[in-house]
Amino acid sequence: MPSILQVALDTPLHRLFDYRLPDGLGTVQPGSLVEVPFGRARQVGVVLARQTDSAIGTDKLRDVIRVFDDRPALSPDILRLAQFCADYYHFPLGAILLATLPPRLKNASPFAADTPWLVVTAAGRATEPPARARAQRTLLDALRTAPLGRETVRAHRQSRHAAALVLAGWAQWARLPPPPAERPQTASAPPATAEQQAALDTLLPSFGQFAVHLIHGVTGSGKTELYLRLIDAVLGKQKQALVLIPEIALTPQLEQHFRNRFPGRRINTLHSGLAEGARTENWLTAPDCDVLLGTRLSVFAPLPRLGLIVVDEEHDGSFKQQDGLRYSARDVAIARAKQSKVPVVLGSATPSLESYAQALSGRYRLLELAQRAVSQAQLPAIELVDLKHIPLDNGLTRPALQVLADTLARGEQSLVFLNRRGYAPALYCPSCAWVSPCPRCSARLVLHRTSHRLKCHHCGFETRIPAECPNCGNPDLKPLGQGTQRLEETLAALLPAARIRRIDRDSMRPRAWAELGEAVHGGEVDVLVGTQMLAKGHDFPNMTLALILDTDGALYSPDFRATERLFAQLMQVAGRAGRADKPGRVLIQTAFPDHPLFRYLQRHDYAGYARVLLAEREQLDLPPFTRQVLVRAEAPTMDAALAFLHRAAMLAPDHPQVSVFGATPAPMARVANLERAQLLVQSASRSALQAFVRDWRPQFDNIRPRVVRWSLDVDPLVF
Ligand code: ADP
Ligand code: ZN
Ligand code: ZN
Repeated sequence: MPSILQVALDTPLHRLFDYRLPDGLGTVQPGSLVEVPFGRARQVGVVLARQTDSAIGTDKLRDVIRVFDDRPALSPDILRLAQFCADYYHFPLGAILLATLPPRLKNASPFAADTPWLVVTAAGRATEPPARARAQRTLLDALRTAPLGRETVRAHRQSRHAAALVLAGWAQWARLPPPPAERPQTASAPPATAEQQAALDTLLPSFGQFAVHLIHGVTGSGKTELYLRLIDAVLGKQKQALVLIPEIALTPQLEQHFRNRFPGRRINTLHSGLAEGARTENWLTAPDCDVLLGTRLSVFAPLPRLGLIVVDEEHDGSFKQQDGLRYSARDVAIARAKQSKVPVVLGSATPSLESYAQALSGRYRLLELAQRAVSQAQLPAIELVDLKHIPLDNGLTRPALQVLADTLARGEQSLVFLNRRGYAPALYCPSCAWVSPCPRCSARLVLHRTSHRLKCHHCGFETRIPAECPNCGNPDLKPLGQGTQRLEETLAALLPAARIRRIDRDSMRPRAWAELGEAVHGGEVDVLVGTQMLAKGHDFPNMTLALILDTDGALYSPDFRATERLFAQLMQVAGRAGRADKPGRVLIQTAFPDHPLFRYLQRHDYAGYARVLLAEREQLDLPPFTRQVLVRAEAPTMDAALAFLHRAAMLAPDHPQVSVFGATPAPMARVANLERAQLLVQSASRSALQAFVRDWRPQFDNIRPRVVRWSLDVDPLVF
């Protein structure tokens, strides 16, 4: 009887592939990773099933090349979760499965997966290496404190010394670090506040089964402390906790907080700041960790004893992937919790309207933390500077400058928030009105003065700053508008005594975070200037002023989520001011002080504004009252992109509960020399929309010409 494997491969095709399994390649189970021939190349694939027959005819099948015994099989729960994503996002299962794997596992070249830890042996504990072998001695001392991962050893160029220690019998490579000697103790935690205790009393008895809990807690209310206590309870039952955090928030500070709190526990991290090898290592050892702390992709990590999922800052846009499998890690986390029958806790000071509506309707359980945990910490007073009456000078008003100077004089710290990096959003020619266009996009090139370049923030194009206008030859080009670099320069000129630091994607490498945090804590910084990166992650007790410069673009944006996002951002930034015993102050420059958003913001009334926005959304038939799927098409010409979508719309099945809107150019119509169009489909019923897309999607493959690249975005966040 021939043995045939059904294999999922990383292809755009919505199908699986059959291969024959020759004898003697090793044991295979669903989830096993194999190497197979595919076209003229080879690929790593995931076995989904074993069968005795194939519709293709057994003699036509090609042979599996190799069964990887150096890497673990994907577990049934991960296979099930990937299948959920394939169905819900209408994306090929094979592409999903391969995307969930860390980079090294997708590669056919072998690596030492089974022994990633260098640990000290009993002989190694007892001995002293000869004094002249200084490097070996240092490494051995380090190993006596804690085992080291293979990648860490490699990264510190210590592989040679490790080999010497192993040869001497003083260390060995092991699959796992040995368990901590004593029972891990919980480091001292502050007594829970009354609100935290009430939340614990509600949450803990319901653990052990699936439920979605939404914690709406004002900034500083101690949500992190609450997660730690919940995790502690889960660890006490020998279960694992998965903690998902936004891309930007994984500061070493948070990781350290977890390590301090759970000494001796295994805490793995997974995020884009880790080197490839370290990411692979942390993924491979995830089944044995206690807490996995990571960004988006961690939702697919192997956790056989999963007991709790926490999604911190659940409203954050970085949980949604914007290419390939356009999944929402928050929503997949909920699906995973449901499949694994464990609770999931979503937390935010400004929940997404999607989650909040679920909580108001009773499908999620809502828990409120309305008070700041540190009793003296007051919520800051929020004032508006009316730009209709007060003029701007280089982006700043006189009152704003005055409070900055006052704060500086008191020896307190300020932050100045401007959500545009670079020196100026564009370079401008006053004589012919040329405004630095990106040659490849419908966007402006941003002026970066420190690197002397014009850069496109959409496609990555860059060029030297021209000496004269490319259009009319005028040598007197001017920066147009304000970016964080220019603001930093302006502030330095106006407040010469202030020590100013800038935070944005241009200035920050991941490691720089920790260093900056220390500098602010240590009082070496007076003014922090930055983009939304400012809003998260850090807690600075001496920061008493938040100055918010330019928000008006979002108030009347065509994007229906713009006000929700702005409100969340302003609440976060405001939450940075006055967190300890000093009262905080927030100043916002706006030409629209009468906008309702500010009224609710000044009262710190998330719930009130959420109800206003929800009422608007309901009236306009927008999410969360309707479900959306966006079909995106990209082509060399707009005509081709639109023609594809028109054709797709004509092929749409008739469904009374589903509306198909007209094809339109995307708001950013051209990126990297491709024209982009989109087509929106929506329905009040999620299941109707799902069924509709299931029937519809297969037709797309028949539409010609093939110059169009298309993708489906289920629950799109960005249009
Ligand atoms: P959030 O995540 O809600 O913004 P944090 O968990 O960061 O809030 O807590 C804010 C501050 O309050 C932190 O400095 C934290 O140490 C402190 N804190 C939290 N819970 C308590 C508590 N029960 N007693 C005293 N301080 C607390
Ligand atoms: Zn010109
Ligand atoms: Zn561009």
